[in-house]
Amino acid sequence: MHCPYCRHTDSKVLDSRTAEDGCSIRRRRQCPSCSRRFTTIEQMQLVIVKRSGVVEPFNRDKVVSGVRKACKGRPVDEVQLARLGQVVEDTLRACGQSEIPADEVGVAILGPLRELDQVAYLRFASVYKQYHSLEDFESEIAMLRIESEPLGIEPLIPDQFDNKVSNFTPHKLTPGRTET
Ligand SMILES: [Zn+2]
Repeated sequence: MHCPYCRHTDSKVLDSRTAEDGCSIRRRRQCPSCSRRFTTIEQMQLVIVKRSGVVEPFNRDKVVSGVRKACKGRPVDEVQLARLGQVVEDTLRACGQSEIPADEVGVAILGPLRELDQVAYLRFASVYKQYHSLEDFESEIAMLRIESEPLGIEPLIPDQFDNKVSNFTPHKLTPGRTET
């Protein structure tokens, strides 16, 4: 490791410790030539295994540029794209594997992209999941609709389940109740 101050070609490790996330190591170093100190962070190298079997280093910029294309014309800014790239990398690192199949990168992108922008998500998913027909889009949109419905509200129960409705006694949910 070259010294960042004087470019000396060697440095001495003073201290090594595992970072809080457990996924990297911080090393405190000192340059033997100018005596200045600096810190390096070592991370496991992530490599992506493509379908063809070709292996290449993980590149967060590549993830971001792919997502940026899907976000064209959408209200998504560079800060959000960078954050998404970080989330994707964190997700992949959290797997604890150094070799990641290319498919899993796509999967890791889909979740945060859906939260960011649903139209961009559909564009990305249509390429990634290889939609072949309008039905593929329709079922994906139906899924998005279901998921965007508010949670925590009991659906209206049709007449034939009247019995269940009358069994529902909200008083039982109040604190200090006595069990029967
Ligand atoms: Zn130096």
